This record gives sequence, structure tokens and C-alpha cells, in this order.
Amino acid sequence: MSHTVHTAHTTAGSAAQPLQFHPPHKSPLARHAVAQRVWSVAEVQALLELPFSDLIFQAQTAHRAHFDPNQVELATLLSVKTGGCPEDCGYCPQSVHFDTGVEAGKLMGVEAVREAAERAKVAGATRFCMGAAWRAPKDRDVAAVAELVRAVKDTGLQACCTLGMLDEGHAETLREAGLDYYNHNLDTAPDYYGEIISTRDFQDRLDTLVRVRNAGISVCCGGIVGMGESRLQRAGLIAELANLAPYPESVPINHLVKVAGTPLVEQPDLDPLEFVRTIAVARITMPKARVRLSAGRQSMSDAVQALCFVAGANSIFYGEKLLTTPNPDVDADMALLQRLGLKAARAQA
Ligand code: SF4
Repeated sequence: MSHTVHTAHTTAGSAAQPLQFHPPHKSPLARHAVAQRVWSVAEVQALLELPFSDLIFQAQTAHRAHFDPNQVELATLLSVKTGGCPEDCGYCPQSVHFDTGVEAGKLMGVEAVREAAERAKVAGATRFCMGAAWRAPKDRDVAAVAELVRAVKDTGLQACCTLGMLDEGHAETLREAGLDYYNHNLDTAPDYYGEIISTRDFQDRLDTLVRVRNAGISVCCGGIVGMGESRLQRAGLIAELANLAPYPESVPINHLVKVAGTPLVEQPDLDPLEFVRTIAVARITMPKARVRLSAGRQSMSDAVQALCFVAGANSIFYGEKLLTTPNPDVDADMALLQRLGLKAARAQA
């Protein structure tokens, strides 16, 4: 299937467009009533437009109210099943729709995953995330991943996975295996979604998040910026995340990694300070969440990463590779954390 992203959309996406405001997404099955602030897109946009110093001050204040500002969580991500994905996410080298040179592989075995988790633990990680390039796993896939989750939990690390859309009962199977977190990103604003992905819609994402939440698994959910969306649309993404009820425990903010062969490879660079602003606004609107610097760190200077920590980021993906794209090496990360006086945070269940 052909993808829908081209440069014309980039131009259209950068013009201000009216956004529909969605009230908080509460599941009819939700177990707990959640009292939290509801953010309009306009309110989030107003934050994004604050003078930089005022924005960073607000973000630091929110950060210090809930976290030790000098601690950073280290999470390691392993691709346990790479490539061959039938979805057409315009940013992703693992889609079968794009010729990126990523070969499709099979699900890794339990012992290989256990060894990788043990290496990550020795290197200082507290959470081990496993990614599999599926649109939606089948029952037998979920059963196999549950064994991987058990192996990771045996090492004492927290376990997280990202497997695509979950059907009824899948989240419960993973929870019984000990899964702590499920990652499922909202990707981008609802009104920009169709520009990036055509094989599913925004509501599909929300449905899986409800299943995860109702199984008692913590939610890791964020998005990607720098895909040609407007500032208003970045505000729309953050408002959607902040209005999940409750908002996610972990919020990965990814910067587009432009991979040759994907439709977004020619995307103009996002101003790095706009990325820092997005981190700050995520911190202010979701003050108790772990805000994670995720994909795209490889191309950020140390100074921009430092600003992201000041803006409230307190988690990073750590390790050599992020699924199929490079990540700063472990030594460089350790040196940066040391220069900034940041320490690895202990995992919180
Ligand atoms: S982002 Fe995930 S769902 Fe989308 S193509 Fe890549 S592996 Fe598939």
C-alpha cells in the first residue's frame, strides 16, 4: 500500500489549522475515577508560546515538586522481532511499505533475551523494554512474549513491551507474566494522524491503551515530533496525552529520526529549542510522569540534551540501538550524566 506522506503535506501541516478538542478519554471500564486537570489545546499551545525562560521555570518548578531533579531513569530497548511490519507509519524503517534495508526477523528466544536483560542490568538500566514489529500480535505471539517477560522479570529489571494493538485478553496474559509497562504511542495529533499513517486510526491507539490500563499495566505513551506537524498540532498531541485519564506514567517524546527509504526522510529539521519546549510542556501538563528523551537523541548536541533535562526530562533510552536506529553509546551517555551531576534513578514499580 502506498503511504500518504509527501512534502506537500509538510507544508500544509505547518500552517495553523483549527483543532478539535477532545475531552479526557475515559474508559467505560475504567476502575478508578481520576481527578486531574483537563487541558485544552489552546492552553497547551499558550504554554508552548511562553518566553523560553518562563516556560523552563514553570517546567522546573513542576519537576521539582514531584521528582529529584538530579535523577534520570535509564531504560534499555531491545528489538525482539524486527521488520516486516504491515503498518505504514511514515517514520518507521520496519514497515514493509518502505525500502529501508531492514530485514524481517523472527521473535527472539528466551535465553537470548535473558542474556540481553542481564547485560542491560550490569550496564545500569532499571527497565528493559522489548519491541516487536507487529500490527497486532496473535494469541501465540502474546504467549511467547509472556515467556520473554518472565525471563526479564527474573533478572530483577522492570519489564515493558511494545507489540502493537492488543486484542481482548492479551493485556491480561502479559500482566500475569509480570509486565510492568506497555508502550503504545499516540504518535501525533489526531488531525495530523492520517498524514503519517493510513493503516490504522487514532481511535485504535486509544482502544489498546484502555485495554492496557484496565489490565492493571502501567502505560507508557508519547509521540514523535519533527514530522512536519505545526506547533498547534504538537499542542494537540500533548493535550491528548495529558487528558488520558489517568495520564501515562511514562511519556516518551521522540524526535523524528530521518531514515533513508522512509517518506519522512526529507523532512526539514525541527528547531531544537522547539523540541525542548515540547519536553517542558509535557512536564508541566503531566507533572508526575516520567518524561523520556527517546528516539532522536543521537543527533542532539549535549547542550540540547542538557536543556531537555532542565525542562523536565527524567528518563532516557540507554544502549547502543533504539530498535533499528543508532543511539548515543553508553560511555558517552555516562560521561554526559556525570558532567551534569545526574544520577541513575532506581526503578519504581
Ligand atoms: S512504528 Fe511499529 S506499527 Fe508502525 S510500521 Fe513501525 S513497527 Fe510497524
